[in-house]
This record gives sequence, C-alpha cells and structure tokens, in this order.
Amino acid sequence: MINKVITAKNIGFCFGVKKAIDTAREYAGEGVCTLGSIIHNKLVVDELEQKGLKTVHDIEDITTSKVIIRSHGEGKATYDALLNKNIEIIDTTCPFVKKIHNIVKKHYEQGYQIVIAGIATHSEVKGINGWCGNSAIIISSVDEIPLIEIEKICVVAQTTFSVEEYSRITKYFNNLNQKSVVVFNTICYTTNERQAETVELSRKCDCMIIIGCSDSSNTNKLLKICQNNCKNTFLIEKFDDINSIFSKLYGTVGITAGASTPSELILEVNRFMNDNVKEGSFEELLANNPVVSYEKGTKVKSAEILFADEKGIHVKLDGKNDGLVAPDQVELNNEYNPDNYKTGDTIDIEILGPRDKDTGCIPASKKKIEEKKLEDKLVDGIRNGEEFSITVSVVKGGLLGRYGSYRVFVPQSHVAEHYINDLTSYNKQKIRLTVLEIDDNKKKITASQRNILARERKEKEQERLEKENAVLERLNEGDKVVGKFVRSTPFGAFVEVDGFDCLCRIADLSWNRIGKVEDVLNLNEEYEFLILSVDREKRKVGLGFKQLHPHPFYDVAAKYPVGSVLVGRVARLEDYGAFIDIENNVRGLVHISEAAREYVKNINEVLKPDDEVTAKVIKIDDKNRKISLSIKAALPEEVKVEAEDNSKKIKEEAKERKPRESRKRVKIDRTNDNEPTQWSEGTTNTPLADLLKDFK
Ligand code: SF4
Repeated sequence: MINKVITAKNIGFCFGVKKAIDTAREYAGEGVCTLGSIIHNKLVVDELEQKGLKTVHDIEDITTSKVIIRSHGEGKATYDALLNKNIEIIDTTCPFVKKIHNIVKKHYEQGYQIVIAGIATHSEVKGINGWCGNSAIIISSVDEIPLIEIEKICVVAQTTFSVEEYSRITKYFNNLNQKSVVVFNTICYTTNERQAETVELSRKCDCMIIIGCSDSSNTNKLLKICQNNCKNTFLIEKFDDINSIFSKLYGTVGITAGASTPSELILEVNRFMNDNVKEGSFEELLANNPVVSYEKGTKVKSAEILFADEKGIHVKLDGKNDGLVAPDQVELNNEYNPDNYKTGDTIDIEILGPRDKDTGCIPASKKKIEEKKLEDKLVDGIRNGEEFSITVSVVKGGLLGRYGSYRVFVPQSHVAEHYINDLTSYNKQKIRLTVLEIDDNKKKITASQRNILARERKEKEQERLEKENAVLERLNEGDKVVGKFVRSTPFGAFVEVDGFDCLCRIADLSWNRIGKVEDVLNLNEEYEFLILSVDREKRKVGLGFKQLHPHPFYDVAAKYPVGSVLVGRVARLEDYGAFIDIENNVRGLVHISEAAREYVKNINEVLKPDDEVTAKVIKIDDKNRKISLSIKAALPEEVKVEAEDNSKKIKEEAKERKPRESRKRVKIDRTNDNEPTQWSEGTTNTPLADLLKDFK
C-alpha cells in the first residue's frame, strides 16, 4: 500500500531544454527541421513532428532553408557545413554547453590535449569534440584515464555527467601536479542539484519512480543513483508504463524526472499517484514546486551565478526560472568581463521584465541595483551638505533637472544671490547645487545655487581679509613698498600692495600742481611708494609718491644762488608783495619793499599779473623752501632813474583817476609782525594759511 508520495523539487525541463522546446514550437509550422531529436523524449518529439517539425540526422538530408540546432549543440564542422549550404541556423545550444565549446576551442588552439568526461556516443560529447578537431580523449570513468604524455591537459565534463565520478576524475588530474593541467567543472547546475536531491530522496523512499527516456543521459544518471540507494527503482517513459509497476509500489514512493521530461507527463503521473495513496497530493506537489513569478522591478538578493559568458551572467532564480544579466546590464561603466564572475558566487539583481522568448531567461540587471546603491550613497552625501551638479531646464518659478531618480527643483529665488527675472540663460546649463529639502517618498529634491554662491563669496572675503591682515601686519610707516596703480579717483590713486588696496592722495603724488592721477602714474604699472600712514583698525594705508622724489625747489635754488639774477613772471599779487614764477612751479617772493627803488604803497602800482620781471635772489631758506627776490636790487643805475620816473608817472596817473577826497590814506606799517618781508613759494598745493604762518 502506498501511503506517501514525495516528488523531487528539481524536476522536469531544465531551462536549456525549455528554451529549445519553446523555439522549436515557435518555428514548427515554418518548414524548419532539427538536426537530431530536439530532446530525448519521444512524446515531445512526436508532438512537434505533428506540428510540422521534421527531424533529420544528417546535414545531407536537410531540405529546409532553416535548421534548429538543439540544446546539445554541434561541432564546428556542422556550423561550417550549414553555412556552406546557405542554411539559416536557429541555434538553441544550451549556454552551459556553449561555454564548454568555448573552453575546448580556446585550449585546443593553445596546444592543450582535451579530455572529455562523458559518454562518447552522446551527441553533446560529439559536439564538444567537434571544437578540438575530434582529437579529445573521452573517458566515462576514472579507470579509463590513459597515460597522457602531453604536458598541457584540459579536462571538461559532459553537462549531465555523474557528479561523483567527475569528482574522482578531477582528483586524479589535480594530483598529477602538472602546472599545465586545467580542470573545468562543466557539469550543469541542474544536473548537480537533481543528482544531489535524488541521492537524498532515494535514500528515504521505499520505491523510486524515474520519469524519462532511456536514451536520456541525465535520466540514466538518476536511474543509476536511485538503483544504488533504493532496490525498488522503476523507470517509466510514458504514463501507461505506470500500470506495469503500480502493483510493486508500496510505502513511501519518490518521484523524480530527467531534464528532458515534460511537466505534463510528470503532473499526470503525480495525479495518478495521488489518487491512489493515502497521503501526498497534487497540492503537495505544487507546494514542493512553487511557481515563482517575477514582477518587473523585483529585487533578488544573492542570486547564484550559474556561469558567465559573452551573453551575460546566467543566474539561478527560484522555481523553474533562470535569469540573464545581459552584458550592458552588468557594470556601471559597461565594461563587462565574464572572467570576473565565477560559478557559485552571488550577485544582487533587479528583474527587468517577463521571460525573454529568445534566451528563455528572465532578463535582469545588476547595474540597476548598483545604480540604486550609488544613488542612495550620493543622496546621503548631498543630504549631508555635499554639492552636486545637474543640467537644468527653465520652468515656471525656477529651474528643473534630475538627479538619478530624483526630480530637482531650484526656486527662482535660489538661482543666484540676487533675484533673476529672466532665467533663459540657465536653460540646458549645468549648475552646482546644495540641498534645501529632500522628499524621498516623492523623490523630490529642492535645491539652491544661491547658497553655494553666497558661501563662496564669504569664503573669498574671509580669505581676502586674512591675506590683507597679513599684509597689513608687515606694512609700517616710513617703509618703502612697490605697488601697482589699479584705480583712479578724483582724490587720489588706489595702489595695490601685495593685494591690499592702499591710497595715495593726489596731493602726495607730485610736488607740482596736477589735474588728475594719470598725469603722474600709468594704470596697472608698478611704482615705488613711501608708506605715510598705517591704520590697522580702520584698515587704511596712506602712501606717498612725491616724497620719494626731490622737491624742484632744490634744483632751482642750486641753479639760482643768492646774488644771481633771474627772469620770472608775476604769478600773484598780494598786499605785501608779488609771487614770481621762477621755474618748474617754484616761486619766489618780491616783497613790496623790494619791488622798486622808491617807496611803493600799493604793489599794483608797479606790477601786474603775468608781468615778466628781472629780479635778484637775495635770500634762500632751504629749510622752509623759500626764495626771496628783489626787483630793485636787480635794476641797473639808469633803469633805477627810469623806474623812479615811471613810479612818479604811475602815482600821478593814480591821482588823476581818484578824486582826492575819496582816497583813503592807508598807513603801511613795515614793522607789522604779520606781514612778510621775504618769500618763496614751493608748491601751489600748499594752503595760503600754511604759507603765511611762517612769516613774522
Ligand atoms: S541539463 Fe543543463 S546543460 Fe543540459 S540542456 Fe539543461 S540546462 Fe542545459
């Protein structure tokens, strides 16, 4: 009596077979043939033949324009022959098998002796051998390994080879201690799992049923495993076969199936068994074999890598699903190298959509997960104040851009330090921003450029202040410095000394009267200056330029010593005398008492502005830069007489111009302390009050 049925989890079509069957079903009605049976299952082959899919066993027998290469794969010669005959190839070679082809081809070309662990007559092994010029040594057990004299050996296994036996073979070759022996574990993961599970299941069951065809390699492996662990092991190829074994079944019955066994047959057997046992049910079967569907966007953590090749990384998913991470979905920089991904390692992936018809796999992306991780890291960074850059477009009320999956809005008031009415110039521009607010739920960031600009301005100001302070510290009154004239104002020149703005007043630029700074200095040229004042508190430094150049007074004084006679021009008349321009803006004073030989009551009686006069230098005061002149001392005798006549004449003319009663007599007190008796004027920039104060 059967009281329990346990069905293996790893059961039915593997993804390689499923892909081949799906493709065959798709092309069945289009006049296509398969080279060899599409799978080792008569039921499926019959079904496809009824749909119009022919099976041929020799290239010469192909009469169609397209041919399907089954999941077992073919050797290189087959591909070449088909191409020569212009027959289109629909290649459903399982990626696991394709990977072996690549290994064998590469190592054969490098001079390795290829060893294949497998069944020599199996079409997969024949196909593999076809990639090394049919030169492989084919062994089905460790005992068959011959003495190989070639140093370089490359060992691979048929995908459905016995895991246990291959482990022994691997051990043998690894013990050869030859550096140039390379052993690849090319047994398919479904085979691995199926065999491992079958070992477990067959050990705890009273009877085992293996569903599959007797010419299927992996079905035979399962059969052998079960026979080793369970005496009551039965192989059934079709549903009807169950009738002949049913009476022999009892206790706990285990069910497993080969990779080429259709699910329909497995379910049929299970249904029957469940109808005839006390325990175990179809629901249990489903529970053991959950149908896992993957929605777009589903994240899968630690998906196991089956293998990686030029088509991408093949990963194992739950249920009967396999995922494929295409090369452009692997790395952030799109630089994919299959060698970096080892079988058995795990990666996090995101599902991109439903199963792809061509690959038979669920498309997935590793890159998207990394992008998300990177984005999370970056968003955390900008949340903590880090700057970020985006390209923006102008929208109503500000600027809009994207930062990963976040929408970024920059309010108009946060574009610049001052409010900008027209943002057109920002369109499609990359700008730097800092976060004002992040809404992770709405994936929205509000950001500001203004804050960056304000901060940078303050930093620059601070930097400038610190630099200026350092300059201020080393500037001292009386020092000479070199500065560049950088800016002109009506009151003086701004001069940059080591980056610090100093002021040279216009009065300190030249000893002479000048109209503007540029009369003395050229913009952006460097000059030497004398520091006149340093006010560190008010951050003001006064410079002098003229102070470093000799006063023209001394040249004039040297040229015209006391006793010499010079010719000058009347610049200004005062009650006490006349200022005479000598040379180079240096003036001397002719006191009224020195203007003529006779007494002069009013200077205007003898001199007019701009008169040219000849005068003798009678005194030079170097300290106060004063030159005293005398016209009368410079007069020759005859001129003196003439001058007296002239003087009389001027007086008479004056009497005639003013009525006697209206003339007011002014008493001139020559001893008055406030009236100068000698004078020189150094510079017209000296205030009159300053000049007068020195006269006693
Ligand atoms: S058993 Fe493995 S190697 Fe063979 S077809 Fe299936 S998936 Fe591919």
